[in-house]
Amino acid sequence: MRELFRERDFTRIGYYRSVLEGGGIETLIRNEVLSGVEVPIPDFFPALCVVHDEDYDRAMALMREHASHDSAKSEEEVTCQECGEENPGNFEVCWSCGGNVGAV
Ligand SMILES: [Zn+2]
Repeated sequence: MRELFRERDFTRIGYYRSVLEGGGIETLIRNEVLSGVEVPIPDFFPALCVVHDEDYDRAMALMREHASHDSAKSEEEVTCQECGEENPGNFEVCWSCGGNVGAV
């Protein structure tokens, strides 16, 4: 077993766990039982681990891949169908005219 990262926010742990399990990597979460308890000590934060040490590099690569996909998505610009203004990729309604953005 090898620890990948620990994070106070359990939703991120859960998110990356599903990413890794989806990639066929067996994971487990340490300190899961303690989550929900306010413990200000990083030692007790939930930690995402790979069960098999040899999966560690692949797990890290998978997580990096997903992290870069996430940021690429938010940096992408979409053009408003109504007025042609550029909007951030995560906008659904144009900031300029209120029209639908990127809806095809
Ligand atoms: Zn517009």
